[in-house]
Formats: sequence, structure tokens, C-alpha cells
Amino acid sequence: MTILGRTAKVRLYPSEIQAIQLSDESREYQRLSNIVSEWVFNHDFPMNYLKINHALYKKLRQESPLNSQMIQSVFRTVVARYKTVLEQMRQHPFRYQDVDKKWVQTPIDLTWLFKPIHFSKPQADLVRQSNYSFVNGMTEISLTTLGKRTKMSFNSKGFGQYFQSGWKFGTAKLVHSQGKWYLHIGITKEVADFEPTSQSKIVGIDRGLRFLATVHDHLGKTRFFDGKKALRKRKKFLETRRQLQSKGTKSAKKKLQQLAQRENRWMTDLNHRLAKTLVSIYGSWALFVLEDLTNVTFNTDDLPKALRSSHRSWAFFQLELFLTYKAVTVQSKVLKVSPAFTSQRCPQCGLIEKNNRHHETHEYHCCRCQYRSNDDRLGAMNIKLLGEEWLCGVKHPQIKKITATG
Ligand SMILES: [Zn+2]
Repeated sequence: MTILGRTAKVRLYPSEIQAIQLSDESREYQRLSNIVSEWVFNHDFPMNYLKINHALYKKLRQESPLNSQMIQSVFRTVVARYKTVLEQMRQHPFRYQDVDKKWVQTPIDLTWLFKPIHFSKPQADLVRQSNYSFVNGMTEISLTTLGKRTKMSFNSKGFGQYFQSGWKFGTAKLVHSQGKWYLHIGITKEVADFEPTSQSKIVGIDRGLRFLATVHDHLGKTRFFDGKKALRKRKKFLETRRQLQSKGTKSAKKKLQQLAQRENRWMTDLNHRLAKTLVSIYGSWALFVLEDLTNVTFNTDDLPKALRSSHRSWAFFQLELFLTYKAVTVQSKVLKVSPAFTSQRCPQCGLIEKNNRHHETHEYHCCRCQYRSNDDRLGAMNIKLLGEEWLCGVKHPQIKKITATG
């Protein structure tokens, strides 16, 4: 079993009066959070919210219009924030130079804080059922405010799927952004894990530039996902970037930054759609096999010289990430295999020969058995074969070159 976690973002449509109520409530929540934060800071950071509860609950309940559930939520919110900060501190130890100018690392913890964590924005964490619930056949949301519960309509555009398919709704964060109100609802779902069987669908995926992905599957079908458009677009981005860089002005720098962001968003969207397409084609119980590209230098032969240095492998890793994320929701799995020789082995006779691959024509031609194939397809075929080996019990399948000695 795997527990999946997501955040469903829901837009709220409060009336004018309701908007004021939400605003008052989140301000009060913020005020109490800061009081609790100060107490935590002054009492050696007890990360146990029962302890805080014991010390502060009565006092806060008397002086605040927030209901008891919400006050409990405040405690949890504050503890969670301190824990996050502590985790960040653990990951970034303090570095300094000692008398011999040698760098020393020393671990830090919450006692290094010189003031309490400040909650700078109005916010509120709402617990399902006690503080918010869906009512009237899921057409409205009922929310706790300082006075009483109030109902309002909402829009879950894009998150509709989560309302049907067995997701559990957890704590929601009330968020006010650019004049609009939202609930960010934490949702979870238990799903069965991928189980290998002899019937499993195996999908070998070769990532590249000419083709973003070339796919070869258990039925022997090959699919090409064109990368030319992406490549053209990247070249265009590069041209604009050049022009801006040569200007060197402040506004040009700003434009450069925007351009980079736009380029990233565009690539991210492309990867999202590609991962989605692959998962919708193969569905449940599929084994998606990818090359493990950690520590691999990329073949950039297909790129113009100017783009080679700027070629960013993050796009490949992002596809892997998205595919992994989506596959697990349908009991499918992403398997990573060694990339060694996947573009050199002949899938028919097993010969590993670098010169079989002709980069200019994108053709693979086996000098021993005369097998011919498009070179991207060949990569995907070999990757798929490694997936088959894994299903047969080989833990780390890889193509090994055996040098003939006699
Ligand atoms: Zn061959």
C-alpha cells in the first residue's frame, strides 16, 4: 500500500459579509498563532502540542472568539511550523572558519532562533467536519467563522476527479490571495502497489531531443513523441535571450528573467502532458522503464552548437518525476535501469557495436545480422528488454559488454 498525498485547491465565493467574516477569522487565527509561537519560544520549544494545549488552552479559549477546534488547530499549526524550521536548520548546518582558517560545520537547532517565528499573514487551518464540510450534494461548502457556520459556493475546477475517486479530505488551509479566497485542502488516498506478473505491460521509454520520448511496448508497438517543436521553440527562446543579453540594461535583465520563467513553464506543461498521455495509454499495472540518467552526460549531437551548453537535463528528470507521480496513482510503476549500451546493442542478435549506430541518418544497422532500425526506437527496445529482465527477477538489469578473449 502507498498513501498518496495531494493538495486540492478550491476557490471560494463568499458574499461581502462572509468575506469580512473569513478575514476576521484568519486575522484572529494569526494573532493566536503568534501568541502560541512566543510561548513555544519562551519555553524551550516543546514540540508536543498536548503540552502547549495544557498550558494555553484555557486562557485562549476565554479570551478568543475562535472555537475549541480552531484553537487546537492553532497549536498544531505552530508546532508544524517549528518542525519545518528545525528540519531546514538540520539541512543547513552553520559554517565558519576557525583560527587556522579551516572551515568548520556545526549543527544548529531551534535554540539558535533569536526571536519567535512570526506568522506574518492572516491564515487559518480548518479541520474537516468540525470546521468545514461539503453540503447540499457537494454544491456548497460550510465553514466555521467567528460567529457561526456559514455556507458558500465554491469552484473545484480541475480537482473534480478528487471528489469522486476515493480520496480522503484532511485539514484545509484558508488562503487569501489577490482579493480571492481559497481553500487548500490536503487530501490522501490509499492505493495498491504495482505487482509484477508475467502479464504485466512493459513500456520502454527512451528520452531524447529529436523525440521527447520514443516508446516501445510489450505488444511490439513503437510510439514517437515529437520533440522538434520543442527544439524549435528552444532555439527561438535562445535568439531572444541573446538579443536581450547584448543589451545588458536593467529592463533587459528583467525581461530575461521572465523569458526563462516562461520557457520553464512551457517545458513543464509539455512534460505534464506527455506523462499524462503515457499513463492514459497504458493505464494500470504497467511497468514504465526509463534509463537512470544520474551521472550521465547527454548526447547533444542533435542540438545546434549554441544550445549544447545550455541544454538542461532537468527536463528529462522532470518527465521522470511526473511519470512516477502519475503512475503510482493507477498501480503502475516507473523502473530505472542502467543506460549502458542501450543504443549499441542489436536487439536481434545481441551484438554490442558502437559503429552500428549512424548518427547522421539516425539509423542502426547491425553489421552481423543486418538488422535495421531507427536508432531512437532501438534504444526504447533495449530499455524494454531490461524491464523484462527485472520482471524475471534480475534486480539491477543492465547490458554488459562481454569482450571475446579467444
Ligand atoms: Zn544483429
